[in-house]
Amino acid sequence: MTDPLPVLLARLIADSRHHAYAAAHSKAEELARAHEGFAAGFHTAAVYVADLIASGRVRAGQQVRAEDEAAAQRVLDNLHVDPAERANAISDAIYGAPTERKHAGGNAEDCPGCDGTNPPYPFICPGPDEATRSAHG
Ligand SMILES: [Zn+2]
Repeated sequence: MTDPLPVLLARLIADSRHHAYAAAHSKAEELARAHEGFAAGFHTAAVYVADLIASGRVRAGQQVRAEDEAAAQRVLDNLHVDPAERANAISDAIYGAPTERKHAGGNAEDCPGCDGTNPPYPFICPGPDEATRSAHG
């Protein structure tokens, strides 16, 4: 297997350069700002990876919280799953797993647990007790 870190470094530089170019050439100001954000994020990631290649560790000040290390470990423990499932696991770590989006009760349109579930009329959230059932349903 090819050493993955140099491959990743090249990928991050390519993504950052793409977004920097798009930021400079976007006609719409809002779109340009969005591309600038992506370019900056990929730039930071490229710096992390270059530091990692250079020293085998992250630089002081780049350490992460234990819960983020645990999330990374969960991804590493499940490398056999398909790429979409890996992407979902990473999304859950970043945005919160569906089971973490608790039902609030009341109007389903205002409930994070009901978000995306499209409950039937009259759009009433089943309430906090239904969180586990609907998360697996
Ligand atoms: Zn709900």
